[in-house]
Amino acid sequence: MDYEVIIVGGGPVGMMLASELALANIQVCVLERLSQTTPYSRALSIHPRTLELLDLRGVKQEFLKRGTPLTTGHFAGLDTRLDFSVIDSSSNYSLFLPQSETEAILENNAVRLGAHILRNTEVLSVVQDDEGVEVTAAGTKGMVRLKAAYLVGADGAGSIVRKQTGIPFIGHDETLTAMQGDVILKHPPALPVVSRYSEEGMIMIVPLPAAMHRVVLIDPHRSHIPKSEPVTLEELRSGMLRILGDDLGAGEPSWLTRFGNATRQAQQYRERRIFLAGDAAHVHFPAGGQGMNVGIQEAFNLGWKLAADLKGWAPPWLLDSYHNERFPVNTSLLHNTQVQTLLFGTSFTSSMIQLRKMMSDMLNVPAANYQLASRIAAVDVHYDPTLPGSSHPLTGRRLAEFQLRSEQGDVISSFELFRDGSFVLLHLASDEKMNICQWPPQIKAFSYTLADRSTVDWEDVHTVLIRPDGYIAWAVSRSESDHIEKLRQGLVHWCGRS
Ligand SMILES: Cc1cc2nc3c(=O)[nH]c(=O)nc-3n(C[C@H](O)[C@H](O)[C@H](O)COP(=O)(O)OP(=O)(O)OC[C@H]3O[C@@H](n4cnc5c(N)ncnc54)[C@H](O)[C@@H]3O)c2cc1C
Repeated sequence: MDYEVIIVGGGPVGMMLASELALANIQVCVLERLSQTTPYSRALSIHPRTLELLDLRGVKQEFLKRGTPLTTGHFAGLDTRLDFSVIDSSSNYSLFLPQSETEAILENNAVRLGAHILRNTEVLSVVQDDEGVEVTAAGTKGMVRLKAAYLVGADGAGSIVRKQTGIPFIGHDETLTAMQGDVILKHPPALPVVSRYSEEGMIMIVPLPAAMHRVVLIDPHRSHIPKSEPVTLEELRSGMLRILGDDLGAGEPSWLTRFGNATRQAQQYRERRIFLAGDAAHVHFPAGGQGMNVGIQEAFNLGWKLAADLKGWAPPWLLDSYHNERFPVNTSLLHNTQVQTLLFGTSFTSSMIQLRKMMSDMLNVPAANYQLASRIAAVDVHYDPTLPGSSHPLTGRRLAEFQLRSEQGDVISSFELFRDGSFVLLHLASDEKMNICQWPPQIKAFSYTLADRSTVDWEDVHTVLIRPDGYIAWAVSRSESDHIEKLRQGLVHWCGRS
């Protein structure tokens, strides 16, 4: 074998996964056809749960240095914004950062941790057998053949890995397209963000770095044009004139493009030794800025599972749990983007305007606003407990950041325990000493008490086993009778060892 894992595609998802695997000391290589990060940034927002995950590994600061935090997001461009600030999270905001910068940070991180990145290398074929997966790629010095135990296709919507593995991509092609222009506006709008919906169409304008603006619009006269047809500046300006009544002096485009609402999901995210992640596994209308976020979250879900298998301690069901956990999350993502498409792209009628107004009014109800904000932020994701014994209400939920106090009185963040990507066993019942027997080496055990008032849900927790990706695997409550036995069940289930 040349590597333990080969990742095809060095976009944000491939680079994030490479970081996770390299952190776990897995020999990993990314094969990427581009010579450098693309300057054309599709994604601009990194949402709360993704920021929390980056925080677990101590890299969030790098993103904060370059991006701009925004406390609100949107659903279908409705007038009432989604309020992220009320989310119970130390990342209760979205970070505005062009995708090219996100990719550059993730690539540097992957390289720092020891991942090999082979650029100018286009994968042409992928073949698997019982032992591994062989890749043939065209590189700068001719054809390359590499073999690995596992391969992950993070090669975007047109994924050659998905096609060659024969995994069906279920859904529909685009039925409408939107236009996008990254332009200079000679007469920029007074408000930083413009969002307008009328019988003439939909338009959103947001500022970009270097005094540019991104104009996105759905012009009902042009939304039937296929994505493959280039956008001209004239076309963009006439759409702006029609929908906004002003083209704001748009010119000097750095990027004009069209994108559509094709909505598809891979029928399975695993075919024996081959896995799919990110856009290779699902595509949808980019409404609410979620695609890259969910892809990065998938990389966190998959990385430690592959590492566990390669290190020989994964229980037999663990690799399949990647599909089982993420498929339903992304089915729900596809639903929410389809609903948004319906609300802002399909029918520019007075009844749609009324429907949007009603929905916008409903978002003034804090509980309704919170529900949609949590969904876009992905803090509502939880993974169903896999065993009846793990019945504690925290099981499967995400770990949020809170403060912990050591016996010596030092206070640290719960996230600091996850820097090296291990499973964390957190013993919180200070009244009772745990007879800490020999934990398997993949588990780091800590004894702390809660130092935060915001952790009411945690007050009855005696000991908790937390996955490397920050989800609660197993929790034992103080009221249970045999803590050690309960914990042993959790350890056997998750880590294959007693
Ligand atoms: C207009 C627009 C706005 C968006 N805004 C947001 C947003 O704000 N927030 C958000 O979360 N998401 C957003 N998205 C979605 C986001 O851009 C994608 O979900 C994200 O890029 C997916 O990342 P990925 O790594 O899976 O795939 P990609 O970014 O597509 O990366 C795939 C990589 O694989 C490489 N590759 C492909 N084939 C091969 C091959 N055969 N050999 C070697 N390399 C190969 C490609 O060169 C590429 O670098 C937006 C999308 C659009 C269209």
